[in-house]
Amino acid sequence: MSLLRHHVAGAPAGDGARTSPVYNPATGAVQHEVALASADETAQAIAAAKAALPGWRSTGLVRRADVLFRLRHLLVERQDELAAIITSEHGKVLADAKGEISRGIENVEFAAGLVHLLKGEHSEQVARGVDVHSVKQPVGVVAAITPFNFPVMVPLWMTASAIACGNTVVLKPSEKDPSASLFLAKLFEEAGLPAGVLNVVQGDKEAVDTLLDSPDVRAVSFVGSTPIARSIYARGTRNGKRVQALGGAKNHMVVMPDADLDGAADAAVSAAYGSAGERCMAVSVLVAVGGETADALVAKVSERMRKLTIGDGTDAASEMGPLITGEHRDKVASYVTGAAAEGATVVVDGTQQGFEGDGFFLGVSLVDDVRPGMKVYDDEIFGPVLSVVRVDTYDEAVALINDNPFANGTAIFTRDGGTARSFEYDIEVGMVGVNVPIPVPIGAYSFGGWRNSLFGDAHIYGPESIHFYTRSKVVTTRWPDHTPTQVDLGFPSNH
Ligand code: NAD
Repeated sequence: MSLLRHHVAGAPAGDGARTSPVYNPATGAVQHEVALASADETAQAIAAAKAALPGWRSTGLVRRADVLFRLRHLLVERQDELAAIITSEHGKVLADAKGEISRGIENVEFAAGLVHLLKGEHSEQVARGVDVHSVKQPVGVVAAITPFNFPVMVPLWMTASAIACGNTVVLKPSEKDPSASLFLAKLFEEAGLPAGVLNVVQGDKEAVDTLLDSPDVRAVSFVGSTPIARSIYARGTRNGKRVQALGGAKNHMVVMPDADLDGAADAAVSAAYGSAGERCMAVSVLVAVGGETADALVAKVSERMRKLTIGDGTDAASEMGPLITGEHRDKVASYVTGAAAEGATVVVDGTQQGFEGDGFFLGVSLVDDVRPGMKVYDDEIFGPVLSVVRVDTYDEAVALINDNPFANGTAIFTRDGGTARSFEYDIEVGMVGVNVPIPVPIGAYSFGGWRNSLFGDAHIYGPESIHFYTRSKVVTTRWPDHTPTQVDLGFPSNH
């Protein structure tokens, strides 16, 4: 069994005094141990990033862009290898792993446009002989702390833009599937990124707290669950850092009576059970408007669920893989087993499906007659469980969603443009789909939820990331043009 270590200044680091097991979720077997960084080891990674900063910051923009173009090429070329790493530690099926990589590539493509993105502004002659221009400078050392569910895409959300802007990075991936980040760091270096610009520290709270408390870390990008996001935001900002902390979700998909119900059922099943529901943009609540819509949807969704093939993600026939750990699988199952006692109706009970072997598999579940106040509704389950909430009107659907503490993504299915437009206007959620169940913005836009789904004011990747990873500086210039000057103690006026 191998020990997965840190990657600091271009080389493996860490003695692995503390470790955590890395499972293959499809077999339940421990395949690696991952080192958990001490405060000292984390400080060494921060020091490596700090040492690399002057060199990388002064590297020409065209040269920086060149690294990102090469990285894109390598990600495409090595996509199969990287997907196999994701599947072996996360469990998602290979096709889904490749999908994740292709979305991460979008972030690299966006960041490769850095020569354009980092342009400042210039105003000539704001006063006689005086010009003003603004520049975007890197913030410095950036900490990137990522969750288990997208071990390639989420690190690329952060690293591509942060590095494009001239920062150096300490990436702390999830300890549950740490290999992909090590692979990414090596690809970046193969693409020409100097050692020390991207460092990977494996670890848990000890590493994260060290990053949050270090005066040398200037900005923190975090993606994970809401309780941790909230605490990271509080601690990081208390220490004077710029922080964006993306949290959990409970995404509602509204189905209007006029919708194409077959299309809506296909979309609901795909978005609820894809990646075993372990996506922050997974649909977890189906909001059916009208009793007939609800009855028809429940029938159509359950019919499709029975045909799903669940199995090892490396098997091309599998549509859904296992959950990340046995502990998480059992927690997800407990929501289904507890739902009936809460007054809900379990229509399809995935906890009853048997699987051979010791993998962390769980069948798909559908729970009807769910209402706020039930645990199955209130908590983010992060597993293959879809709830149905029945409402009578569009207004009730909107009120339900706007009252939910999470506000990451949502969608409406309808054939009526006016209803769709009202939904877009009325709904208080960061990412909205119209007949699109998982509205993850393309790389040229930014990604982020509202309320408890994001702490901080900058969304991640896309244009907002350029703002987040840079500081602006405004320069006011006067070159002597032989106009006579005089002493004037008044506040500078441009008139
Ligand atoms: P998590 O919050 O348990 O862990 C996220 C990161 O924080 C990991 O690197 C982990 O090691 C670290 N961490 C865990 N506990 C910590 C602690 N006490 N102190 C400091 N650091 C700690 O999340 P997860 O289980 O890895 O990922 C799933 C969660 O992430 C879900 O809630 C999901 O909705 C969310 N997520 C959100 C988005 C989004 O864009 N909003 C995207 C992906 C995942």
